[in-house]
Amino acid sequence: PGQRDLAAATYRTIDGRGRAFAQAPTGIGKTISTLFPAAKALGLGHAEKIFYLTAKTSGRRIAEKAIDDLRGGGARLKSLTLTARDKICFKPNGGSTCDPDQCEFARGYYDRINDALEDIFTHDAFTRTLIEECAQKHRVCPFEFSLDLAPWCDVIICDYNYVFDPRAFLKRFFQDTRGQYAFLIDEAHNLVDRAREMFSADLCKSEISGLKRLVGKTHPDLSKQLDALNRYFAKLGKKVEQEGDGECWISPQLSTDLMALVHNVLRAAEKVLEQGAALPFWDELIECYFRVLGFERIGELFDEHYTTYTEKQGRDIRFRIFCLDPAHNIRQALERGCAAVFFSATLSPLAYFRDLLGGEEGDTLFSLGSPFPPEHLRLLLADHIETTYKKRGESYDDIAESIAALVSQRAGNYLAFFPSYKYMEEVATRFAEAHPDIDLLVQESGMSDREREAFLSAFDAEPSQPEQYTVGFAVMGGVFGEGIDLVGERLVGAVVVGVGLPQLCLERDLIRHYFDERDISGFTYAYVYPGMNSVLQAAGRVIRTASDRGAILLVDRRFAQSRYRQLFPASWHPVHSVRNPAHIAQSLTEFWCHDPTYT
Ligand code: SF4
Repeated sequence: PGQRDLAAATYRTIDGRGRAFAQAPTGIGKTISTLFPAAKALGLGHAEKIFYLTAKTSGRRIAEKAIDDLRGGGARLKSLTLTARDKICFKPNGGSTCDPDQCEFARGYYDRINDALEDIFTHDAFTRTLIEECAQKHRVCPFEFSLDLAPWCDVIICDYNYVFDPRAFLKRFFQDTRGQYAFLIDEAHNLVDRAREMFSADLCKSEISGLKRLVGKTHPDLSKQLDALNRYFAKLGKKVEQEGDGECWISPQLSTDLMALVHNVLRAAEKVLEQGAALPFWDELIECYFRVLGFERIGELFDEHYTTYTEKQGRDIRFRIFCLDPAHNIRQALERGCAAVFFSATLSPLAYFRDLLGGEEGDTLFSLGSPFPPEHLRLLLADHIETTYKKRGESYDDIAESIAALVSQRAGNYLAFFPSYKYMEEVATRFAEAHPDIDLLVQESGMSDREREAFLSAFDAEPSQPEQYTVGFAVMGGVFGEGIDLVGERLVGAVVVGVGLPQLCLERDLIRHYFDERDISGFTYAYVYPGMNSVLQAAGRVIRTASDRGAILLVDRRFAQSRYRQLFPASWHPVHSVRNPAHIAQSLTEFWCHDPTYT
């Protein structure tokens, strides 16, 4: 269900050279439902290439599999998965200071590339593994090789930045030209903040002064230009004290003096870089050069959708060009292609995402219902507990006992999401003391890939003993808050503590003021919608297939307010209000007794 609607809308959007924003719940098969019609449109000449944009490795794999399935069904498609230079580079420094003159995979590249192309063209799916194997065999740079494959491919699977980021977009397709490219944008809810980051830039005084120290007197012109920029940063530091609040100074203007100094540094650095990698400070220079170049490019985009701020960071001064509203820049980038379909399980409210992702009135907006039986989900709302910052201290025990009440009704795996590490740890301490019989895992800040895998491996298998209870405590909006797929018994319940509001910070407040000035509720755009998106993502971990059953417990008085309630998906109906742990247990006993696997 829903698959046909999404496929039809995608086809119509590409055929009509339009834009569509689709909220399509988990289980619909969003990837195949967008790739299949896009491939059909390609076959009929409505587009010349498909860009499938996804931020995650898991999304890339799903897209590769869907394209394999299309090929299995007879479609003749060549596809390419682009991997970031620093990940696919064969050299130990990951290409961050890539100097083609010094790299054996770049020297003589054009002598060997034709053999590599001929070799790989016997395949249709140019995956990362295949590209690496072939590039090693022919001793060519894997990143350049993948870029050289791109013009020959029908579908390119890549990160958002290859289309949108002014510092990284694919110049061979998008520089000053427009093509018949269809953009399929997966997990598009992530693009709002990703785009803000892509269209923003910063520089620190320490970067400039650090490079100046290394350059010393060896290159007088570069040294002079760095010195001038460094002095400008010192002046900015004074502004923080004289015109700001001592910590930060906000200005809606971008100084042309600053950009002229930045320009001078770049030109002087280029002259030095022409001398090649024999320089003792080559790595530092090239790194700083690209940082400053990125800053200049972002500065060129500066307009009324931006602001700037300078802040003190210890003894350092940081200047940031901050994109408040990425819509205009995204729209410009979309003009590089002919059609775009944005989709996600949590693209709600659609008009908000349309407005911030470069859409306009008249674009197609649609939301598909959940394909899962509604009776498979029990949604509980503990709105007697307050989780606002002031009231948190009073809520720890109540939350610990509410989680225990949820878990104790059925053996299995559960996740509980919290608004902050501090809050999570306070509840975890109480929970562990009161319920030593329940296995507890707690997310830690800055976990390595291996530690994350270890955390998730506790959810890998179905419980080995019938009475095994496991709860993972995690932070909402963090690495376990989305993109993990715990099907069936791997996850039978989730607790969401709080309405997910992002932490109060300068940038969020700047966004808030920006929208307030435009007669749009800034608090809603800066805090409520992003917060509820994290809530929906976290809660969305529970029901992943038509046979999954599970319970979600929302904990916060604010969930009862219409501002939040109206953002609940239709599949969250009915909402069962619970007043205490005994009430939670009672509601769940009644729910689970309908589950045939419940004993
Ligand atoms: S040329 Fe390619 S392989 Fe060599 S350092 Fe640069 S990115 Fe890495």
